[in-house]
Amino acid sequence: MNKLPVHSAPLVPFTASGELLIGGESLSRLAERAGRTPFYAYDRGLLKARVEQLRAVLPRGVKLHFAMKANPFVPLVCFMAGLVDGIDVASAGELMVALNAGADTAEVSFAGPGKSESELSQAVASGILINVESEREIELLAKIADRLNVKPRVAVRVNPGFELKGSGMKMGGGPKQFGIDEERVPGVLARVGALGLRFEGFHLFAGSQNLNAEAVCEAQRQAYALATRLAVHAPAPVQVLNLGGGFGIPYFPGDRALDLQPIGDNLAVISERCARELPGARIVIELGRYLVGEAGVYVTRIVDRKVSRGQVFLITDGGLNHHLSASGNFGQVIRKNYPVAINGKADHAREVASVVGPLCTPLDLLADRVDLPVADVGDLFVVFQSGAYGASASPQAFLGHPPCAEMLV
Ligand SMILES: *Cc1c(COP(=O)(O)O)cnc(C)c1O
Repeated sequence: MNKLPVHSAPLVPFTASGELLIGGESLSRLAERAGRTPFYAYDRGLLKARVEQLRAVLPRGVKLHFAMKANPFVPLVCFMAGLVDGIDVASAGELMVALNAGADTAEVSFAGPGKSESELSQAVASGILINVESEREIELLAKIADRLNVKPRVAVRVNPGFELKGSGMKMGGGPKQFGIDEERVPGVLARVGALGLRFEGFHLFAGSQNLNAEAVCEAQRQAYALATRLAVHAPAPVQVLNLGGGFGIPYFPGDRALDLQPIGDNLAVISERCARELPGARIVIELGRYLVGEAGVYVTRIVDRKVSRGQVFLITDGGLNHHLSASGNFGQVIRKNYPVAINGKADHAREVASVVGPLCTPLDLLADRVDLPVADVGDLFVVFQSGAYGASASPQAFLGHPPCAEMLV
């Protein structure tokens, strides 16, 4: 029955004729509802199911945060705010969205290098937790505390001495712009205490897009051990231990879905030790793409069909301007095809085709020589696994085509 030309079995269901169903609605109808293509559609049911799946495996007491960077579409953030325990933001702009979404300020945290004085002031005034990334941020916070007469809530983001093995994107270990090198943290903690900031804990985020459960477990064990070593130098008891996340999703042929159970088991062991060794501390896991990536599709319409020297090109009305990741230009070392489909053509004859966007650059490639049903102008072309790092992570102004629509279904 599965005739969709997909490598990694997307979660989005479809009918026998290959018509996709998003939030129970057919994709053809959704395209009419949107009134235009291209658009992103996110499925509430899949978002909710993913959070429930995680809750079933994570130990009780471990807080689940959504890293908003993965998808800042306001209705989606509002929906997620009602499902998860907290929101992690990486700019004052994201902070405003999280607060407007009704996120509990106790469980909103703000990470990211180069926070400006005004961003830090907004964060202090909001009463959220600030994951400090440099000595400069700490000094600025002390100044802001005086001016606002509010004690800033601070966690120290640590750049550990180890790396998260098997990560698509490394964000800790070695020289990094993120966090404060582990060896400098004891001095920083003394300064946080001397300045009278409210120390609450540590943030360790080693990297992203990891499909290897054992590597995730190992990074979490090391992060926990490092936090307990550093806690000795802390000016106050640790209340928050953000162990990062980095849970990956399958994008490419050969990718296997992350096995959650060993991660849940490992976190249960860590939680037990934490209850004894750092009493009163809560563990936080922050996830972006794992929560939202598989719940979204990017939908374009085929506007032209060309054969060039024997190779079929399907030209669509959107491409890397809306979906840089699928074009392979968002940090990928080797370009690979995302799972894709032609909507509603499961029974058709097939052919090998390349699917490109309308931009006048060879980088605008959505699928390179993939096996697809024979498609015509007017058909809908779908890119799966598109709920994270889509619209907001793409250069929408590049070449002046219209922006894409987004909807939560
Ligand atoms: C980007 C980022 C995340 C989310 O990464 P995903 O791969 O989407 O899960 C989480 N935490 C921090 C600090 C980040 O920078």
